[in-house]
Amino acid sequence: MSAPNRASTDCTVGFDAERARLDFPILQRSDSERPLVFLDSAASSQKPNQVIDAISKCYREEYANIHRGVYELSARATAMFERVRETAQRFVAAAESREIVFVRNTTEAINLVASSYGRANVGPGDEVLITEMEHHSNIVPWQMLCDQVGATLRVAPIDDRGALMMDELEKLLCDRTKIVAVAHVSNALGSVNPVAEISRLAHSVGAVVVVDGAQAVPHQPVDVQALDCDFYAFSGHKIFGPSGVGVLYGRASILSQMAPYQGGGMMIKTVTFEKTTYEDIPHRFEAGTPDIAGVAGLGAAMDYLTEIGLESIARYEAELLDYATDALSKVPGLRMIGTAPNKVSVLSFVLEGVHPHDVGTILDQQGVAVRTGNHCAMPAMEHFNVPATVRASLALYNTRSDVDALVEALLEVREIFG
Ligand code: PMP
Repeated sequence: MSAPNRASTDCTVGFDAERARLDFPILQRSDSERPLVFLDSAASSQKPNQVIDAISKCYREEYANIHRGVYELSARATAMFERVRETAQRFVAAAESREIVFVRNTTEAINLVASSYGRANVGPGDEVLITEMEHHSNIVPWQMLCDQVGATLRVAPIDDRGALMMDELEKLLCDRTKIVAVAHVSNALGSVNPVAEISRLAHSVGAVVVVDGAQAVPHQPVDVQALDCDFYAFSGHKIFGPSGVGVLYGRASILSQMAPYQGGGMMIKTVTFEKTTYEDIPHRFEAGTPDIAGVAGLGAAMDYLTEIGLESIARYEAELLDYATDALSKVPGLRMIGTAPNKVSVLSFVLEGVHPHDVGTILDQQGVAVRTGNHCAMPAMEHFNVPATVRASLALYNTRSDVDALVEALLEVREIFG
């Protein structure tokens, strides 16, 4: 097994992964003989001290409920919360901070759009267009919407490398298409979708574009204005922030026309038993007490990524993905699932003659943490005719040593299973 910090030559692209690793206490753990080789960041990422400290600071120094108290502590917590909204605005290059809605996660963001925008704007005979590579979070809410309003779900296919077939997507667009919902990056395959081009095509038939950005934001800069999408969703826990908090970006002109998703405190202007009037955006969509310390942690996570620079991270990870792709190709009987020309972070594969869960269990015994299963993308698995894959996913703190450890452990699996 390789020592985790061996690959000091990895910092060839203006980013030093070895230094970044030092920010993550879990990667320094000393309670076990084996260093942690963590290759499951697509499921949820590890947290740097900066994020852990921000959450702790919030509870220790500036915690109170927000938007309520007249006292100083509440005002400070509110100011922190609203500052993070501005951080999120800059993080995705939104035009205005009122376009940022805090939600629990990507799943809630998509459900919000499906419920609020969807029920008001999609009717019988209309269509919602998604792709074959979507996570269940970007399938099921649209299926539920279609069932509720009598609309039809259409699916743009992927090719055998796992890339979206843009000509097929274009053919499926028509004046009945009201919503086009696509992943920016596929969690099961790593394929990157050409969102700006999809926006252009969708807008030409009058559809709005909803982007599931859960797997894109940890790996590359995102500019919602350049992508020209109408909604963009992501989760804090995949960008080295806490779980329980996420972001929905919505274009102000659309968001301000939408009805609330949930009713309760904080989202109202006035309430009588006869009639309630609602807050303006974004507060209209933030009913109830939010995850205040979680928002503090999310702010620290976005600052962390911005400080390092997502361009440097993207260059570093591209090089590491190339290295890993090449190294895995040398493992006998390994078939890579998802080889799109434009791809980030994810190495999904099957090993001939060995069930992915068995691979995962033996890798775990070697100290290598990977995900096995359908990755909440059963239709994508079906496309490749596999029930499950082994998925190693890379993040900024992974190095060539981690990849070498994975390959070594896979060779061990090969030894055991022949
Ligand atoms: N979309 C994609 C592409 C994802 O990878 C995930 C998480 N695996 C989600 C949506 C759902 O994210 P969350 O569970 O944080 O809502």
